[in-house]
Formats: sequence, structure tokens, C-alpha cells
Amino acid sequence: MRCRRCRAPSVIELRRHNAAFCRPCFLIHCRDQVARTIEEHHMVEPGERVLVAVSGGKDSLALWDILLDLGYPADGLYLGLGIGDYSDESGRYARDYASSRGARLVEVDLPTDVGFDIPGGAAAARRVPCSACGLSKRHLFNRAAVEGGYPVVATGHNLDDEAAVLLGNVLRWSTDYLGRQTPVLPGGDGFARKIKPLIRLGERETAAYCVLTGIDYVVEECPMAVGNKHLGYKAALNAIEDASPGSKAAFYLGFLQRGLAHFAPEAAADRQSLSPCASCGSPTTGDVCAFCRLTEAATRPPQGAKPAPRRRTAPPR
Ligand code: SF4
Ligand SMILES: [Zn+2]
Ligand SMILES: [Zn+2]
Repeated sequence: MRCRRCRAPSVIELRRHNAAFCRPCFLIHCRDQVARTIEEHHMVEPGERVLVAVSGGKDSLALWDILLDLGYPADGLYLGLGIGDYSDESGRYARDYASSRGARLVEVDLPTDVGFDIPGGAAAARRVPCSACGLSKRHLFNRAAVEGGYPVVATGHNLDDEAAVLLGNVLRWSTDYLGRQTPVLPGGDGFARKIKPLIRLGERETAAYCVLTGIDYVVEECPMAVGNKHLGYKAALNAIEDASPGSKAAFYLGFLQRGLAHFAPEAAADRQSLSPCASCGSPTTGDVCAFCRLTEAATRPPQGAKPAPRRRTAPPR
């Protein structure tokens, strides 16, 4: 097939767009999709510094690369989760990319800086690992952004991720989650703005972007992902997409256009009932935020043992 833009031989076909692209035009396509998303959803104001949550995987590294190419002042944030070899390896990819671009990578290490790792902390707190992990990421990304003076945190959630989350939320009619499933969560009162600029790119596109630009990324899945419900939702959506290209984008982007507004007021009301956590000062609905409760459970010494020195969690700006 020939490239849709320049008629040169193509290297990738995108059935969803009913198009094929050569290498340079595919890279332009990816940047255009991200630029369009940022503009359409007013994600970044001129001059704002962006902190990109970088896992070492294809999505977050592609996002960082595209933001830098588009001229955004974007630094990376790597959060070490203490998940054995997987964390060691993913940290290496994040550092290698940062040094290859001369970009700044901020690092936070959960075991060293907070006192627990995801497998141990989740077990101690009797949570499933992905729940403890998601909670820790949300809290620590926000804290790093607020303390570092970044008004915006960008994450590498792509179209496949968002469509799978949407399917899960719709299957249960989780109206509170549906109201928050927006590509931009506003900032203010201890929160940095959270943005998802990759919602118009599928994971096949971000993988191809990395391959075609020579970005090395961690290919292995996190070992904790086994049994994760979202993998099943992704597989179901892939089967639908195979039979009917474009369905995934129509499902998710259609929700943003026609469904989200029905659920947003509930999420906005939840946000207004926040007050500072008594322990760390982060916004929370209770007295003590969920992350401080997780930290407390995960670092509690076994009965009879001498308590470990308590680490202070700094309040937001
Ligand atoms: S699979 Fe679960 S534990 Fe692993 S990085 Fe993702 S959310 Fe965290
Ligand atoms: Zn071309
Ligand atoms: Zn707290």
C-alpha cells in the first residue's frame, strides 16, 4: 500500500483511519493526533511545565518524546514501585531515554522514600496489588508535581486503555467513575491538572512510534498484571475492533462527546467535599487520605518488633 499523505511505500496500515503511512508521515500523524488532543481539550496553557509520568513502557516514552518534539517544557517522573526485576528494568529504560534526549528525569522510589514496595505493601494492607499501585501512583505523581512546581501531570493512557476502562465502568454502571473518566482532570487546591494526551492513539500506534523512532522500552508486562480485569476488557474490544475497525474510537470518543456530561456533575460534587488529609495535607474526602492509610498499614512493624522510624509525608504546596 501507498502512504496516504505522500504516496511513498507505506510501513504501517491503520484500518481505523482507512489509511497507510510511510515512516515520516506516520510520525507526523502521531504528533498531529497528540497536538489536536491537547488543543481540543485545553490541556496545557502556554509556558506551563509538564511532568510526564514515565514507566519505561512504550506509551509513556512515546508521549514524552512527542511532547518534547512539539516544544513543551516536559520533564519525566519515574516512580520505582519495588516490583523486583520489572522495576529495575523499567527504571533503566526511563533513565536511558532521558539521557539520550538530554531531558530531566525526576525519580521517586517507593521502598526508599516511603518505606514499602507494591507486593509487600498490598499484602500488608490486604489490597490487590494494582489497587495499592494505582493509589500510590495517583498520590505520588500529584505530590511530585505540586512540590516541583509543575501545574500539569501527563500520563500515557492510550485509546485502548481508556476504552477498556470505559467498558469496565459501563458494565457496572459506575457512575462516579464515569464522571471522572475525562482526558483532563482540573487542578487547584493541592491538585495538579491531570491530562491524557494519547487518547487518540492506540497501543499499536505507540509501539510502532517507538520502533520507528528507535526508542527502547520495556516490553514485558508487569508480573502483577496477571488476572487484571482490564486485560480481558482489552481482549474483548480487540475482537470487536477486528470485526469492525473504528469501533474502539467510536465507543470512547463518542462517550466524551455525548456521554460524559451526564455523569460529570456527580464527580464535581465529590471534588467539592475534599479537605486536607490530617497526616500529609493532600486533598481527601476523609480525615486521613487513602495513601496515608495504606502507608500506615504497609509500614506497621509486626507485633513485638521495634517500630521503624516514621517517614514524614510532605504537605502539598
Ligand atoms: S500491573 Fe498493576 S501493579 Fe503492575 S504497574 Fe500496573 S497497576 Fe501497578
Ligand atoms: Zn508519506
Ligand atoms: Zn495523607
